[in-house]
Amino acid sequence: MVQLFRIQPRGLGTEEIEGFSSYLVRVASAHAVSVGRLISRLAASREIGNVGDFSQSFATGLPALVRPSPFTRDVVELIAGASGVEPGVFESMTFLCLSNSLDSSAGTYSQHLRWCAECMAECEKKGEPGYFKLLWHLEAVKHCPQHGLPLSGKCLHCQSHQSTARLRTDCSSCANCGNSLGAMVNNINTSLGEKSAAADLSDLVKRIAQSRSTEFPRDGVRLVLRHLLEEAWKTENYDRIWDHIPKSEWLTYTECDGVIRLAEARHIALRLGIRLVDLLQGSAIGSSRTINSKLDASCLNELHTKRAKKLRKSALGAALKNLLKGSEFTPTKPLTWVAMKLGVTSDVLWRYYPSESKEIVARHLKAGAIYLPDPGS
Ligand SMILES: [Zn+2]
Ligand SMILES: [Zn+2]
Repeated sequence: MVQLFRIQPRGLGTEEIEGFSSYLVRVASAHAVSVGRLISRLAASREIGNVGDFSQSFATGLPALVRPSPFTRDVVELIAGASGVEPGVFESMTFLCLSNSLDSSAGTYSQHLRWCAECMAECEKKGEPGYFKLLWHLEAVKHCPQHGLPLSGKCLHCQSHQSTARLRTDCSSCANCGNSLGAMVNNINTSLGEKSAAADLSDLVKRIAQSRSTEFPRDGVRLVLRHLLEEAWKTENYDRIWDHIPKSEWLTYTECDGVIRLAEARHIALRLGIRLVDLLQGSAIGSSRTINSKLDASCLNELHTKRAKKLRKSALGAALKNLLKGSEFTPTKPLTWVAMKLGVTSDVLWRYYPSESKEIVARHLKAGAIYLPDPGS
């Protein structure tokens, strides 16, 4: 059985946590092998079949080792087993906890390893091992939150990417030419805006670093949005919430079953003024407080839309009856879905069909479609 030296991961439990990819570079170099060789040797000694044919998963290089995938999970287990460390420690250095909640399609995670030259230079100056932070693996992060510098993707000396899994001495020198990755281009202007542009993502990474293997729920975003709809309905501010996110978009998010992309989740959180982490966790309590303060009670909307005014009540009644009898309607459908199908707002349904509306909402609630977590849970 192969045993690995215990090497301390950098930045554990903070938003500056090291990426698992970076950690593997340092572990491999301590054993004088490449990351690829390290993983294949361990896989062979543990007879893990799917890691055995890792080369395909590994074709994209080191950045693949932080993405939420079965491959990452296998490698985490492998390294944890061989170094006698609890797997949760290594999981917190990856995005595995987002496996169920976010779409991991192209564009979310950076294709190449990127770094802040000043962060690398600081490590060198202090005599500490340089490393690639987990945060830098998110494509949307373009600047270092500490220094405001644009992240580098290529060595300044030889223009090489750093994603290779072959043998290297450490993380802070180029895998190709060996020069320092802490070298900087002069005269880069940084601004506060660039430093704080990805504050929500730093916050997310901090939560990942702190909670180790706690996964984000699949339906977090949907739960918050549905909860906000219900809250807005109670305070008769229904239409006002479309000011934050257009109605059609809102319904797409609440009614579709697919997982949401990180960019969409950030957009929703920003528009609603709630924390990205709360949104992904489905913590609706804090968020409804924020949004309700935005929904000024004095701004009650007219109950009729132009369309509804034109609508003949009898035609609407017949359409509603048919819809409720049809196979498309199930108890899990919210009132907003019914209203959307009929081409009216739910206010119109409440006004003309209060008992039916009440019944639909009650069945929806009973079907467990709305989940309100306890505050602080
Ligand atoms: Zn930096
Ligand atoms: Zn180089």
